[in-house]
Amino acid sequence: MACNVDLNGISENKLGVTLAEASDQQIYGLLMDEVRERCAAAPLNDGKRKLYYISAEFLIGKLLSNNLIDLGLFDEVRAQLAEAGHDLGAIEELEAEPSLGNGGLGRLAACFLDSIATLGLPGDGVGLNYHYGLFHQGFIDNQQAALPDEWLAEQGWLVPEERTYTVEFGDFSVTSKLYDIDVPGYGQPGKNRLRLFDLQGVDDEIVPSDSIDFDKLALKKNLTLFLYPDDSDEDGRMLRIYQQYFMVSNAAQLIIDEALERGSNLRDLDEYAVVQINDTHPTMVIPELIRLLTEKHGIEFDEAVGIVSRMAAYTNHTILAEALEKWPLKSLQKVAPRMADVIVRLDKLARAAHDDPRVAIIDENDVVHMARIDIHFGYSINGVAALHTEILKNTELRPFYDIYPEKFSNKTNGITFRRWLMGCNPELAALLDDAIGTDWRRTGDLTPLAALVDDADTLSRFGEVKAAAKTRMRSFLTRTQGAKIPEDAIIDVQVKRIHEYKRQQMNALYIIWKYLDIKNGNIPAHPLTIVFGGKAAPAYVIAQDVIHLVLTLSQWIANDPDVAPYLQVVMIENYNVSAAEHVIPAADISEQISLASKEASGTSNMKFMLNGALTLCTLDGANVEIAELVGDENIYTFGASSQQVEKLYADGTYDAAALYRRPGTKLLVDFMTSPAFMATGNAERLQRLHDDIAGKDWFMALLDLEEYIQKKEEVLRDYEDREAWGKKALVNIAQAGAFSSDRTIAQYNGEIWHLK
Ligand SMILES: *Cc1c(COP(=O)(O)O)cnc(C)c1O
Repeated sequence: MACNVDLNGISENKLGVTLAEASDQQIYGLLMDEVRERCAAAPLNDGKRKLYYISAEFLIGKLLSNNLIDLGLFDEVRAQLAEAGHDLGAIEELEAEPSLGNGGLGRLAACFLDSIATLGLPGDGVGLNYHYGLFHQGFIDNQQAALPDEWLAEQGWLVPEERTYTVEFGDFSVTSKLYDIDVPGYGQPGKNRLRLFDLQGVDDEIVPSDSIDFDKLALKKNLTLFLYPDDSDEDGRMLRIYQQYFMVSNAAQLIIDEALERGSNLRDLDEYAVVQINDTHPTMVIPELIRLLTEKHGIEFDEAVGIVSRMAAYTNHTILAEALEKWPLKSLQKVAPRMADVIVRLDKLARAAHDDPRVAIIDENDVVHMARIDIHFGYSINGVAALHTEILKNTELRPFYDIYPEKFSNKTNGITFRRWLMGCNPELAALLDDAIGTDWRRTGDLTPLAALVDDADTLSRFGEVKAAAKTRMRSFLTRTQGAKIPEDAIIDVQVKRIHEYKRQQMNALYIIWKYLDIKNGNIPAHPLTIVFGGKAAPAYVIAQDVIHLVLTLSQWIANDPDVAPYLQVVMIENYNVSAAEHVIPAADISEQISLASKEASGTSNMKFMLNGALTLCTLDGANVEIAELVGDENIYTFGASSQQVEKLYADGTYDAAALYRRPGTKLLVDFMTSPAFMATGNAERLQRLHDDIAGKDWFMALLDLEEYIQKKEEVLRDYEDREAWGKKALVNIAQAGAFSSDRTIAQYNGEIWHLK
């Protein structure tokens, strides 16, 4: 292999000591400098039409290893460090993880930036530089505590840019400043950037160190402090609108300026720029672009509408009503009156064209439906998995599909193999290199592995790779939170935001079942460790209750000597990208158990599959596509279908109380409120969750519970045939190429963006 970097030389040169003598902290500094310099030197990708991927979230994760991979230095650096007695993983722990996202949607945006750069396409991400991110999750008394996440203090990747803009709100204006994070492509000379706008005058001091409560009215100081500030009160909702407008007004000014710099006369702006609107948070970029083209650049309103409608594309990420944003018109008028005027005019245009109140932008209560702006005044709307897109077309957005069938398409989500295989599981990547050659690193094609699923050497090596990943995960969880996981444990993982539709509560009911089963003397062949991870929105009470149930079960079982050797519950504190990178390679079982029709796609399902876990799932989101690819014998599916679920909602016939009264179910649900368990946990939280599940159960955990328990027991039995299990895992890896985000981005570009 060509020598592209000489760390020992750099160390001697810059530190005056050999690499072996340098401390991890020193090496971290050297590597950061080296990578930053190389990124800075890379030319920007160019082309006439440039993509702006606007998103409230970019859950980019740590960047050191990722950038080393993209620059083609990762394996060499790891080897040189190892030779000098250092471990790149330990060094990367010194890097703070940027806290700029929430869950799957933000992580998708990050995978997409990596793939856009890797395909050599000109396209930047545009978002905000939240000083305290979402929040840092702590556990106190088996409950979630939300703390400010001080990631920015130790941040080394942000490069300040000269650009600043004025953003005019209704009764005041602010100035922005811009930071960039370079995004190199894998095996590409060029790069793109993540452009993060910040607020001049932002004041970190208004946030206490031990809570995320701050003055929501201090808009000139708080706009870029937190992602998704609590919106359970009016001030919080207003702050979100201010933030969104701040983001899109900056984005729109940037887009127009860069197009002018590159020779556009703005009447041809759509030949120079395309905007991908990631969920509805950036929707106001449409009226804001129209406003700027008309007010500042003298273009007639109708022409401006036409230009913007040819450059705006929208991705829908959810069918949950609560996430399809609606804002009162009067709130928008207060935040940005002239932009709101444009929305009123767009509503009139839409009403004139379509005499159907279901597709009006502003409803009879003067509430603005943001997604409807995107659909009428963008040229593309896409769902994120085949099933999700069908549900959009046939149900949720049916009246729009009837008007604009040609605008709708599916783009099944994907993940970057750089981070989710090469970076987090280099042993598996090396196995693949040896088994099928290295082309997969470029193409994402892993199907040649299908020919080797019966190969004894490949199977035994896969076993070693999985064991090594488990060792890394065990030491990570011991180091970070003192968890002790048995060496031979089956690792069953459900990591994702805590939400009722994702049904962590159903998994918790399984745990209660398993606990009682072991108490009854049914001793499992292998210990089972069930790993949870995920944050809950601070104002989402039931989700907090679910976290509390899981943590209380964890403690309860650990304290029961009859059961503790065989069953263990671990909840990862502050689940984030780094934690995901430690846990996913180690998993045997991937829990993807959302209520069918509710998970738009999921992407952790893809990460687990790629790392050789078997999926236990409902036929929801991209699980459907995984099942089709691997075949019934290599996946474990259960539960009501999306059609059945949609019918239950439509008919209003779901009866949680009747299901609860079945003796087997009642026993499990009532365990939560048994006196001894109540005494261990917080009685109010347990009672509330109990009553919610027994009486309402909006996301139908009880509907699928019995089948889930049976299926999970089948999975555990199958685990005992180690060879058959290994073959199934290899089949899953072999089919995972379909979920490379390089494939997804090639489709976005070919069918929506048309860059280059
Ligand atoms: C991939 C990922 C997600 C998304 O998980 P889903 O199970 O698809 O909801 C959320 N958070 C982090 C940190 C991730 O890496």
